Amino acid sequence: VSKSVKPIKIVVIGSGGVGKSALTLQFSKSKFFLDYDPTIEDSFSKSCYIDNEMARLDILDTAGQEEFTSMREQYMRLGQAFLVVFSVTDRKGFEEVDSLIQLIYRVKDREAFPIMVAGNKIDLQNDRCIDQSLAQELVQRHQEFNPYCAYIETSAKTRLNVDLVFHDLVRLLRLYNAKG
Ligand code: GDP
Ligand code: MG
Repeated sequence: VSKSVKPIKIVVIGSGGVGKSALTLQFSKSKFFLDYDPTIEDSFSKSCYIDNEMARLDILDTAGQEEFTSMREQYMRLGQAFLVVFSVTDRKGFEEVDSLIQLIYRVKDREAFPIMVAGNKIDLQNDRCIDQSLAQELVQRHQEFNPYCAYIETSAKTRLNVDLVFHDLVRLLRLYNAKG
């Protein structure tokens, strides 16, 4: 892996317990954790080819422990692309998605920015309370002015769409950078 490839700074945000760490660790280490410490905030890197182009992903798995919102804004300012996670089994987590996306626009001072929204825990079909259509409607509202926003359903447990969600985020960033 060439060291000359500039790392892409990805920030993973969302409510507590939705699977931010599980998605990050499944993607970067191919492991599923049942009780990863919810207070750990750490970065993980992974290099991979995406559409025949090498990418170095530098993923910040946030833990929402920031005492001051200014700290949150500081790491968000460094993010080049965002993964906003909710759980399809948790209504409260879903309700926070819109304000988190608004926070990204505000901190980046842009009304379009690369954002993947992940509806996680799709393996827990019986506990599902957020329909796919509901999440898609939310993302479609953003797509009216942010073409770099997309929705995908994932399971960190079964690894369903775990590579895809990170790869698609890099694809959105590449499009965003190409359009200037
Ligand atoms: P975080 O607070 O957002 O980082 O959430 P975690 O990644 O620590 O996950 C919280 C809990 O949900 C843990 O017990 C995980 O094992 C579990 N979990 C995370 N993702 C999934 C998933 O896709 N399916 C299932 N069944 N459990 C998950
Ligand atoms: Mg966590």
